[in-house]
Amino acid sequence: MFIDNRFTDAISGRWFPTDDPARGKPWAEVAAGGADDVDRAVVSAHRAFVDPAWSRMSASDRGVLLNRLADLIAGKSAALAEAETRDNGKLLAEMRGQMAYMPRWYRYYAGLADKIEGSVLPSDKPDMMAYTRLEPLGVVAAIVPWNSPLLLTAWKLAPALAAGNTVVIKPSEFTSTSITPFLELVREAGFPPGVVNAVTGTGAEVGAALVEHPLVRAVAFTGGEAAGMAIGAVTGRRFIPTTLELGGKSANIVFEDADVHRAANGIVGGIFAASGQTCVAGSRLVVHRSIAAEVVDRVLMIAKAARIGDPMDLSTQVGPVTTEQQLGKILRHIDDAKRAGAEVLLGGGRAVGGICEDGWFVQPTIFAGVDPGMRLAREEVFGPVLAVMLFDTEEEALSLANATDYGLAAGVWTRDLNRAHRMAGALQAGSIWVNTYRTSGPMAPFGGYKKSGIGREGGQLAIQQFLQQKAVWIDMGSEGPPPFVMKL
Ligand code: NAD
Repeated sequence: MFIDNRFTDAISGRWFPTDDPARGKPWAEVAAGGADDVDRAVVSAHRAFVDPAWSRMSASDRGVLLNRLADLIAGKSAALAEAETRDNGKLLAEMRGQMAYMPRWYRYYAGLADKIEGSVLPSDKPDMMAYTRLEPLGVVAAIVPWNSPLLLTAWKLAPALAAGNTVVIKPSEFTSTSITPFLELVREAGFPPGVVNAVTGTGAEVGAALVEHPLVRAVAFTGGEAAGMAIGAVTGRRFIPTTLELGGKSANIVFEDADVHRAANGIVGGIFAASGQTCVAGSRLVVHRSIAAEVVDRVLMIAKAARIGDPMDLSTQVGPVTTEQQLGKILRHIDDAKRAGAEVLLGGGRAVGGICEDGWFVQPTIFAGVDPGMRLAREEVFGPVLAVMLFDTEEEALSLANATDYGLAAGVWTRDLNRAHRMAGALQAGSIWVNTYRTSGPMAPFGGYKKSGIGREGGQLAIQQFLQQKAVWIDMGSEGPPPFVMKL
């Protein structure tokens, strides 16, 4: 754990193992934090929030620190990628790209730090001046899942720090190790002690204590629905601002005029990259009946040839899933879909042979004949499982795509520009990709419609979620206020 710019054990002295998902066995030990460690970290973050070393640091200097952190990350991106892959099993090829790109989030918010502006209001009272100030909230809890630990930390940490808050990070108990080399860079960048802290441990112990802590003034969370609901209930009761980035059941919609090669690559990437463990996984293929056979054949051809194996090997295309529990959950979803009558076109079970014997590998799996009422069409699997559904008209495509409680992302594949814009407007999802899938950048807002969450990360407006507005009225007149009535 990391408190006051120092690495520290848990007060209890307890540790827990973390697993290498490619080998299905523990490879490191993580400090098992508790409520007492949370208290230490939050008190430190609060102290740092009011300390002039941070509270009186100019916004431009906060930007300088964030840029320095970005430089340090860029210099260590290969090592950070290896730490992530070892712990969460995502392909080293993907994590190298992610870590090399990650500094851009810090640079984007470094640039915004000194552009946080209040305004002078057009007062309707002749002697009265009014203006607004935008002020940081205080201690922010950043709670992160296991699929992209450092990137999803960056999405919270960069805007929260740019706005002048201090932060306590709570990594997932399944992927806590990469935060250590990252925090060494935070310290090296020169952030004052207590500005960035991290407490490792379970959601039930550390996460719950963090959102309940009276000095925590905002929560930024990415994760599953159950934890999101539990956190939202607490922060609702405590009236503290909260962003919840939750799951999805996103559709890739392929029209009859689509470029089939391009679409097939996007569909495969949407569901089999990261073994389907991305919140924006394109887990439903909604395809026009007239080209369904062609599209599905091409997707099958690419997916069948995918090299499954060690995520550290740069030639591997499908790695393991991150946790043993997740493996069980995915296999149960697959069995359920089979029982419900969906037809297995590819895969349909655990991958075996070679490294897959010990690790937690699932075969890339494709189901046809998926009825919109089936669980596979409605629930997030968070694994490499694609559900194929057919449509005849644009209206039908739209209603199938929107027939989900979620609304995180959608892909539209068409050469018809008007249709692309019509669909982009009508789809109920926070990110729409046209003729591409699964891309992002710090300048774009990211988040969910419906049950996929509230609030947005990324983009200029995200920084507002870490600020509060204050109105200041100054009476410059000679008369002053009337004693018994409001001055209007
Ligand atoms: P999770 O919800 O189990 O855990 C996420 C984090 O919350 C972990 O750090 C965990 O310890 C903590 N936590 C759990 N219960 C808590 C509680 N009661 N109070 C406070 N903290 C608690 O999620 P996961 O299984 O690690 O991640 C997978 C989920 O995340 C998927 O559903 C996926 O779709 C979602 N996800 C969403 C996005 C997005 O941006 N929308 C991005 C990635 C992942």
